[in-house]
Amino acid sequence: MGKRILLLGAPGAGKGTQSKQLAEKYDIDHVTTGDALRANKDMETEYGTPRSFMEKGELVPDAVVNEIVKAALEDADGYVLDGYPRNLSQAEYLTEITDLDAVLYLKVAEDELVERLTGRRVCSECGTNFHVKFNQPEEEGVCDECGGELVQRDDDTEETVRERLSVFEENTQPVIEHYRDEGVLVEIDGEQTPDDVFEDIVDVVGE
Ligand code: ADP
Ligand code: ADP
Ligand code: ZN
Repeated sequence: MGKRILLLGAPGAGKGTQSKQLAEKYDIDHVTTGDALRANKDMETEYGTPRSFMEKGELVPDAVVNEIVKAALEDADGYVLDGYPRNLSQAEYLTEITDLDAVLYLKVAEDELVERLTGRRVCSECGTNFHVKFNQPEEEGVCDECGGELVQRDDDTEETVRERLSVFEENTQPVIEHYRDEGVLVEIDGEQTPDDVFEDIVDVVGE
């Protein structure tokens, strides 16, 4: 059985960046609700499309994301889960469907989060993350991994970023406190370089 890792953190904390490397190192699936929802933005659900929530920085209804996560975890032999759970009811659901080997919280201050998110650029082909200052591609606007075009996400504008951070404070911070109360949460300093963050995570998860 592969490792089952939960990576918590605010928008911009570095979950996607770290998850990609963790999935490679441990040969496990990267399960990310954000990417899954972006790939199905215009899917009609009884609540409306994912797009209608994501554009405003609001959470997509639990029923939609729970189903995505259940299907992805069923198919996985080990995973790093990124972007879920984002509220206490999702956390309860997760407890019902799986056990976890490690619960990590990437901690980053709010000012830094805003700078990371507004400067984030994402490959339109393979999804790799870059940053205009902190993680520049070799050639501006071009993905190092695949040559795809780098774009800014619709929701990485200053206004939507502020909304997402307030949704995080209100809905997701209680999830972090929940795992802390259970005694399973390990806090990682997310303001180090990506390589140092990765090392700290591997120290916790093990070989
Ligand atoms: P999340 O998935 O938590 O929203 P990302 O991994 O997409 O976060 O990172 C957000 C932005 O910050 C990206 O532009 C990424 O390149 C950059 N970034 C990630 N980790 C670090 C780090 N340790 N230091 C500086 N910038 C980082
Ligand atoms: P971030 O960089 O904020 O971590 P994500 O890619 O994880 O971004 O999420 C982008 C958007 O997708 C969120 O603002 C939200 O609208 C939606 N979303 C992602 N995961 C969830 C979830 N677990 N529950 C509800 N909505 C979600
Ligand atoms: Zn690419």
